[in-house]
Amino acid sequence: MSDIKIFENMPNDDDYNKWIEENSNGFVLNIHLRRDPSNIHESHPRIHFANCRQLENINNPGSSTTGDYFKVCSNSIEELEQWSWFKYQKGLNPCKICKKKGLPVEQLTGIQNFQITSALSLKSDIYKLEKRLASRANSNKRTEIETLIKARLGQGIFRKNVLEQYPSCPLTGLDIQPLLIASHIKPWSKCNNEERLDPFNGLMLAPHIDALFDSGLITFETDGTIKISPKIDPENQKRLGISPDIKLKIRPKSKKYFEYHRNHVFQKEE
Ligand SMILES: [Zn+2]
Repeated sequence: MSDIKIFENMPNDDDYNKWIEENSNGFVLNIHLRRDPSNIHESHPRIHFANCRQLENINNPGSSTTGDYFKVCSNSIEELEQWSWFKYQKGLNPCKICKKKGLPVEQLTGIQNFQITSALSLKSDIYKLEKRLASRANSNKRTEIETLIKARLGQGIFRKNVLEQYPSCPLTGLDIQPLLIASHIKPWSKCNNEERLDPFNGLMLAPHIDALFDSGLITFETDGTIKISPKIDPENQKRLGISPDIKLKIRPKSKKYFEYHRNHVFQKEE
């Protein structure tokens, strides 16, 4: 069960101070209300030991949770990290002082744990869409949002249209349709709604190929030649059934999506 406590816009710090007192071995995220932590260049959310003095607002004592900052508290680093992924699609930054004092940063799995982050971003996207759905009464708008929900899940009209173009996984030849995943080439989070439903932004892939493509461990050149990240050594390429001579037929209308994937998703470095 979640034991996350969020202290935001509080009348005073009493509840927060009480939590710190009762959970002196816990952890706290400190986040500025007007900054956007989902920005990759932003150092928030920052994680501290509950007793870190950096958490106090030196200029304005007693305003830890009443002013510009809010606090997210838990006894579990994993839980805070999951919260951050869910909310901002981003991991945590350790406070430098707390790191020196032994903050267990090795527990911060970050983007390396592909399955967790991918499941969390799916959950978060669906959550946002369902929230939008709940606030709409107009039936056309509702249908549009429902179509988007299905597309995010790789179902519905998006899947049907992509399947028409790829009745099998173009890399492995796998044609057991229930196993094929309707993957977005340009990631969902970076797309506008039109791009999210565009069948030319889709590929049917075998599950392990979808994981490779989605996490940027493979991509494709303009002529369709596969590019494999140096993170996948030749031994593992064999195990995955991929090799540098694989070539994909790229349709002209898909070119811009593959270009985005190549430049922004692919993991070039070791
Ligand atoms: Zn700290």
